[in-house]
Amino acid sequence: MATDSNKFQAIISHCKEYGFVFPGSEIYEGQQAVYDYGQWGSELKKNIKDYWWESMTRMHENIVGIDAAIFMHPTTWKASGHVDNFNDPMIDNKDSKKRYRVDHLIEGFAEEKLAAGDEISAKKLLEAMNAFLAADNFTELKKLIDDNKIKCNISKTCNWTDVRQFNLMFSTEFGATTSANEEDNKVYLRPETAQGIFVNFLNVQKTGRMKIPFGIAQIGKAFRNEIVARQFIFRMREFEQMEMQFFIRPGTQKQWYEFWKEERMKWHLSLGITEEKYRFHDHIKLAHYADAACDIEYDFPFGFKEVEGIHSRTNFDLKNHQEFSKKKMQYFDNEIDEATGKPFGNYIPFVVETSIGLDRMFLLTICQSYKEEDLSSAEKQDSRVVLKFSPKLAPMKLAVLPLVKKDGLPEIARKIIDECKASFRCFYEEKDTIGKRYRRMDAIGTPFCITVDYQTKEDNTVTIRYRDSMLQERIPINNILSLVQNAIK
Ligand code: ATP
Repeated sequence: MATDSNKFQAIISHCKEYGFVFPGSEIYEGQQAVYDYGQWGSELKKNIKDYWWESMTRMHENIVGIDAAIFMHPTTWKASGHVDNFNDPMIDNKDSKKRYRVDHLIEGFAEEKLAAGDEISAKKLLEAMNAFLAADNFTELKKLIDDNKIKCNISKTCNWTDVRQFNLMFSTEFGATTSANEEDNKVYLRPETAQGIFVNFLNVQKTGRMKIPFGIAQIGKAFRNEIVARQFIFRMREFEQMEMQFFIRPGTQKQWYEFWKEERMKWHLSLGITEEKYRFHDHIKLAHYADAACDIEYDFPFGFKEVEGIHSRTNFDLKNHQEFSKKKMQYFDNEIDEATGKPFGNYIPFVVETSIGLDRMFLLTICQSYKEEDLSSAEKQDSRVVLKFSPKLAPMKLAVLPLVKKDGLPEIARKIIDECKASFRCFYEEKDTIGKRYRRMDAIGTPFCITVDYQTKEDNTVTIRYRDSMLQERIPINNILSLVQNAIK
């Protein structure tokens, strides 16, 4: 059984062994911080996506979805501030040539101090680091690294460059024409999906006849050239975001920010995860576009970390797009302002954003569901690994298993699958003992297994085995469809 400290490693191995997540381009030794989702991983990912999409669009009359292109006009990223501001301070070790994110380097050193029992120094160090990061004071950050004699963990030397900014956007060239000025053809892979929503704000508002307050949701890939990518799919260079920009009247941002904080936490808890596993973390250093921001953090095996950000983005993005594109990004609000007795009139809307990483939500779901259970009895030692997914998210909902491969039992099993497969994903398996087949279904998190046996031929009943309790009972074949449908709705 895995102890807490190696639980995360066990989860990563399980993900690979059971077809959830593979290292990207593995036959070529992998591509760092890039992962491929396997047969069950892609199902789980799709279910998380669908659950988010349904909750954010279908359950809110005033939110619609779009699917914007990954490539955007390069000016987008000047207007959004990403060309100038989407940076992380980094430092290189001159001997090993290894590049570090400054905050990660200092945090790593503080963790060592903490592990050695020196809580006071670790706390002081982190406080100083946060203050210098907030002030973009690179000279003091470098001094902090030098004064503490923080070493590179490869070369073991303190031979550091100065602290510099490193832009996290990937760039590439667009089209076949060559230009004397390479910058002319340069395009970026989007580092967030939000800008695809902002540039389409008026298209959607006008064609959808949307009235403020309203939201635009989007799920899509984003790319960041993370300096240090670590913790499996927690920090990747290519990942997916599920974002919603909510357009509101200026001055109401505080109220909507609180609304979305509460609403998003409810979404997380609706998946059956207990409140102690979550917490809010308010940002001290606000991004260039925000007037309030917080993260929803989850208690991963490596500590509380961000899964979702909720940001009050003011009118920063629309205002800048208006300025750079010279197109009006305004809304005419004909509702009467009680204070003046006149319509609110024309304004650039403010925005509250909810932004969750699909891959982080995937990791959260796996970490939350992964259980190693000791099933030993007086007679024998036994254990199982089970993924206790919410049935809504489980990649496979139902396994149908004929007890033997003959006497018409496979045919009955196939008929059950034919009746259910239009409604949810089913799995058929006839190899190995029923016990082994149950364990394989536990390992991919299938909530229900049906066994077809000789009694089925006599009375049209089957054995249903529940993944979490492992209890078994006989039910009529006719009840299977509705039982599973009720569990996944
Ligand atoms: P972090 O501080 O962890 O780098 P961030 O604050 O930069 O994240 P946002 O820009 O707010 O993240 O992005 C919204 C969400 O997108 C995050 O809450 C996270 O779930 C996800 N996300 C951001 N960067 C990555 C990444 N490199 N890999 C996977 N998911 C990511």
